[in-house]
Amino acid sequence: MKRTQVAIVGAGPAGLLLGQLLHKEGIDTLILERRSAEYVGSRIRAGVLEPGTVDVLERAGVASRLHAEGLIHDGVEIGFRGQRHRIDLKALTGKGVTVYGQTEITHDLMNARAASGAPSVYEAEDVALHELAGTSPRVSYRHQGVAHEVACDFIAGCDGFHGVSRRSIPASVLKVFERVYPFGWLGLLADVPPPWHELIYANSERGFALASLRSPTRVRCYVQCSLEDRVENWSDEQFWDEFRRRIGDEMAARISNAPSIEKSIAPLRSFVAEPLRFGRLFLAGDAAHIVPPTGAKGLNLAASDVLYLYESLRSFYREKSERGLDEYSPRCLKRIWRAERFSWWMTSQLHRFPDDAFGRRMQETELEYLFESRAAQQSMAENYVGLPFEPMGGS
Ligand SMILES: Cc1cc2nc3c(=O)[nH]c(=O)nc-3n(C[C@H](O)[C@H](O)[C@H](O)COP(=O)(O)OP(=O)(O)OC[C@H]3O[C@@H](n4cnc5c(N)ncnc54)[C@H](O)[C@@H]3O)c2cc1C
Repeated sequence: MKRTQVAIVGAGPAGLLLGQLLHKEGIDTLILERRSAEYVGSRIRAGVLEPGTVDVLERAGVASRLHAEGLIHDGVEIGFRGQRHRIDLKALTGKGVTVYGQTEITHDLMNARAASGAPSVYEAEDVALHELAGTSPRVSYRHQGVAHEVACDFIAGCDGFHGVSRRSIPASVLKVFERVYPFGWLGLLADVPPPWHELIYANSERGFALASLRSPTRVRCYVQCSLEDRVENWSDEQFWDEFRRRIGDEMAARISNAPSIEKSIAPLRSFVAEPLRFGRLFLAGDAAHIVPPTGAKGLNLAASDVLYLYESLRSFYREKSERGLDEYSPRCLKRIWRAERFSWWMTSQLHRFPDDAFGRRMQETELEYLFESRAAQQSMAENYVGLPFEPMGGS
């Protein structure tokens, strides 16, 4: 049987980042990923990074391209009743956010892992976790038809919402909190220079829209859609027509009908599983929680979980202390629930909910208050750029 110190399930941003941080610390890892490297490297997802996430990527030694190509945004805009209102993140918090696609982060992390020589197995099938409650857990899997088993000290469950790790925790231990929203986001990626300089979140009579970007030549735009909608029912022209109706006249006149290079529908969900630890298994990232993408928090939360797990494991191996491991779940959950609250708040204020006249008035009132009150803007801004990390051993 092979052996490693930390077996990492999943090569998304959480798994790859944890692998890189632990490798720099001299801790052995094996990454097991269900999909192919090409598939993982081509997934289009998040794009807004909090300064704290950039710090973690720097610490992992994978931030040089991010600094060269990432775009710093000092504000975001909210479109409402035909006007755009800017939330000046920099003036309100002293910080901005960095726009750099998750796909690029994944490439940077995959390249760093390949350069480090640390092992990864892509297309690992039937990954299963064993003996989690003891001190000698194991992971079994099949690769190219051959069965393998790996002994380890710890298992990091970084395998996303549909992975095997969370499901390996007994139902009697796990508590799940969930809200499914009655709409989804239809997203379109296109190679066209964005006419907007910062993200525009629009609350329109026809529903939510988001004007976003991934680079100076690539836009990522979304419209709120029905959960019954299918991507094949939306031509690019129909998407752009609907986007224009929602985003406001000025931007509507400036964006062209660029052909899509990717188009997909994502449902919106809030989800938290507690605790994030069962014996020697630790969940991190989407394996433990999902936020609706409105607050741009999913990837950022994955990065803070990973930082906390890395610090806990480092302290175990360096100082033989289990304190960080014991603290891991409550330490993560404090930040997770705050990001859940913010993502739920952004989602609640910006979308059209079916048959909810009272809710609509509440939205209007909330947004008017936000535009008029510096205190309300400050609250939004400090959440948007990311709340501080909890120190290990903190209260
Ligand atoms: C369509 C979409 C759009 C999004 N947009 C945004 C956004 O705009 N802003 C934002 O902040 N966040 C966004 N997110 C969320 C963000 O992308 C995630 O929070 C982030 O990818 C979490 O990283 P992760 O590594 O925890 O999970 P994942 O990226 O899901 O990675 C998990 C990995 O585990 C692998 N895996 C799963 N099961 C197994 C198994 N049994 N064995 C081995 N490997 C397995 C998967 O193949 C995958 O590679 C979006 C997510 C989606 C799906």
